Amino acid sequence: MPPFDAELETRLTRYAALDSQSDAASPSAPSTPIQWDILRLLADELTRIGAAEVQVTDYGTVLATIPGTAPGPTIGFLAHVDTAPQFNASGVKPRVIHGYNGGEITFPDAPGLVLSPSEFPYLATKQGHTIITASGTTLLGADDKAGVAIIMTAARHLLENPSIPHGPIRIAFTPDEEIGRGVDKRLPADLAADFAYTFDGGAVGEVEFESFSADGAVVTVTGVSIHPGAATGQMVNAITLASKIIAALPQSTMSPETTSGREGFIHATDMTGGSAEMKLHFILRDFEREGLAQKGEILQQVCAAVQAGEPRAKITCTITPQYRNMRYWLENDMTPVDLARTACARIGVTPVSVPIRGGTDGSRLTEMGVPCPNLFTGMQNIHGPLEWISVQDMAQATELCLALVQEAAQPGEDSRKAG
Ligand SMILES: [Zn+2]
Repeated sequence: MPPFDAELETRLTRYAALDSQSDAASPSAPSTPIQWDILRLLADELTRIGAAEVQVTDYGTVLATIPGTAPGPTIGFLAHVDTAPQFNASGVKPRVIHGYNGGEITFPDAPGLVLSPSEFPYLATKQGHTIITASGTTLLGADDKAGVAIIMTAARHLLENPSIPHGPIRIAFTPDEEIGRGVDKRLPADLAADFAYTFDGGAVGEVEFESFSADGAVVTVTGVSIHPGAATGQMVNAITLASKIIAALPQSTMSPETTSGREGFIHATDMTGGSAEMKLHFILRDFEREGLAQKGEILQQVCAAVQAGEPRAKITCTITPQYRNMRYWLENDMTPVDLARTACARIGVTPVSVPIRGGTDGSRLTEMGVPCPNLFTGMQNIHGPLEWISVQDMAQATELCLALVQEAAQPGEDSRKAG
């Protein structure tokens, strides 16, 4: 197999330099017009490498087909083009370090910022690799332009080598994953895949099929507004009541900063307003439906208790479902997960399945009927200035993609026995 390193390095640095941050406050789809630029560029590139049925949908997703060279299921591969809103993502200047020496990495645009292998042990295992970082003032956007580069490189390779046996492949590059709006309701039908994978995971070996189950909640506190000079016995301050709600929640046992592993949480993400009215936004997370429902009940009970203490106020709590643990669907048919694990073994990588403390486009897609586990890309320290990735890790992900489509077209002896 030819080395993909140079191509992956070129693709990632080129894609990362394009601004494509999403914006949860925008109602449009995609949420930011700059995402159209990278979507159209990727569509052009897919056409140029010979992909079929290249299309940019009006909901901002690039779709394409690599026609099958052998019988087999239709497999989809997805990556998202948007970068996270949590950190500066404009004017990314990717920086390439060839033959990483295993030491501390400093940043040209941020003196004092250090990426240290002692702090991030995964980096310590990458001596000799080609490492890509940003320049210190932005994130890199390997999340998820690494996924885009991996899928593009695998697609180019398959289209140039039609002797490689594989079934039909569908490609989708989506917008707005970081704000939870990457999967339009038309995508499952338009993708038309039997099952799919996102390339949006971290360390080499990750084959993920469990995500959080997620709800959002909005609490509105309406007080009694009156001039403070005439407020005696009259004013009900919404800020005071909102503070009581926050203080009454189990912060020390059920917040993101005090939970890990399979524990869920209640997280206040945003609080706006004034003494007349306050709006509090929460995200509720758990791996199980029961745990998620329990977190909703805790929030409702806290609101009810504060309401009971001040009947003149009006407190409402509205909980909205966001996405569900993809395991609920995948555990009924583990074929896509087993296939990815077998393909890992084929390229000498040990598969690891850890529950994702978050969601992916695959969570929604799975719920909508297209089973969609998440595969590694190599990306590390995402959503911040210390984001980095090893090109050799990306090359292993590319090889995984190629092994996977061949394994699906021609089941090996081992997977037949295991199945
Ligand atoms: Zn991502």
